[in-house]
Amino acid sequence: MTTHTTKMLIIGSGPAGLSAAIYGARAGLQPIVVQGLQPGGQLTITTDVENYPGFRDVIQGPWLMQEMQAQAEHVGTRMLWDTITSVDLSSSPFRARGDSGDVYEGDTLVIATGAQAKWLGVPGEQDLSGKGVSACATCDGFFYRGKKVVVIGGGNTAVEEALYLTNHSADVTLIHRRDSLRAERILQDRLFAHPAIKVLWNKEVDHFIGGEGGLSGVALKDTVTGEASVEPTQGAFVAIGHAPATELFKGQLPVDASGYLIVEPGTPKTSIPGVFACGDVMDHTYRQAVTAAGTGCMAALDAERFVAEREFKALQTA
Ligand code: NDP
Repeated sequence: MTTHTTKMLIIGSGPAGLSAAIYGARAGLQPIVVQGLQPGGQLTITTDVENYPGFRDVIQGPWLMQEMQAQAEHVGTRMLWDTITSVDLSSSPFRARGDSGDVYEGDTLVIATGAQAKWLGVPGEQDLSGKGVSACATCDGFFYRGKKVVVIGGGNTAVEEALYLTNHSADVTLIHRRDSLRAERILQDRLFAHPAIKVLWNKEVDHFIGGEGGLSGVALKDTVTGEASVEPTQGAFVAIGHAPATELFKGQLPVDASGYLIVEPGTPKTSIPGVFACGDVMDHTYRQAVTAAGTGCMAALDAERFVAEREFKALQTA
C-alpha cells in the first residue's frame, strides 16, 4: 500500500478533471488525477465532436481526451490508474482510498466524477449507439439535420432536446410512456406550440430497429393497450435522465433531489472549504465538455487560492 500526497487531489479524468489538472499543475499544485473506471469520461464513448472550440474539422472524442491528458501530464500532472472506493472529508488533508489499496491525501480535493446518461436497456440500443441512437441532442443533433428524429422521455431534458432538434429537423417526435409530461409548464407550452413537434403518448420503446446502415426505426408498445407499432426514424435521442456519480460522497456532502452535488451558486465550492466540484457531477443543466472544462478551470483557481491563503496564514503564525 502506498500513500500519495498532493496539494490537489482530483477524482475523475473527463474534461472537468483534466482542465482542473492543467490549471492546477501550472499553479504549482502538483496535482494527482485518479482516473476512475472510464478514463477520459463520457467523451471516450462518443465519436465525432464538432462543438469543442478550437477545431475547425470534426475531431474524435477519444482523441480529444488523449490530448487533454497529454497536456495535463506535460505540465506536471501525475495520472494514476485507480478507482476511488471511499473518501473521508472530515479532516484535512482529505483522504481517499483506491481499489488498489493505495491511499490518496489532498490539501484540496476536486471532485470531477461526472455523470452517466441513463439508457433504456432495450435490444438494439447499445448496438446502434453512435449509429442513430444517442443520449445527447446538443452533441449529435447536427448529424441528423433534415432527417426525422425522435426523443424518448418526458422530463425537462427530453423536452429541451426536442425543441433543440427543431434547429436541424422539421420532423421531431417526442415519445413518452405516460399521458402527461414531467417537464416544467413553460417548456411544455413551447413544445405543444411548435409546428415541427408531435408527441406520441403512452408509448414505450420495445426495441430499436436497424443494422449496418444505422437506425431505421423504433418498435413501440402502447403502455395502455399493449398495441405494437413502429415509428420510422434515423435518429433516436434517449433523454430519460442522468445519474451523477456521487455515491462516494453520500452523507459527507449535500446533494440535490436528483443526486447532483450542491455548490455555492456560480462557483465550484462545496459546503466543505477546500473541496470543489466541477463538471457534470454538479451541473444537470448544461452538461457539455466545454462547460465541464470551464468549471474545472474554476475549481483549480479556487483550489490555488485556498492553498495560498492557508500557506500565508501558516507563515503568519509561525
Ligand atoms: P427526469 O428524471 O426529470 O425525467 C426523466 C423522464 O424520462 C421522465 O419523464 C420519465 O418518465 C422518463 N423515463 C425514465 N425512465 C424511463 C424508461 N425506462 N423508459 C421510458 N421513459 C423513462 O430527468 P431529466 O434529465 O429530464 O431532468 C433531470 C433533472 O434536471 C430534473 O430535475 C430537471 O428539472 C433538471 N433539468 C433542468 C433543466 C433546466 O432547468 N433547463 C434542463 C434539464 C434538466 P416518467 O415521467 O413517466 O417518470
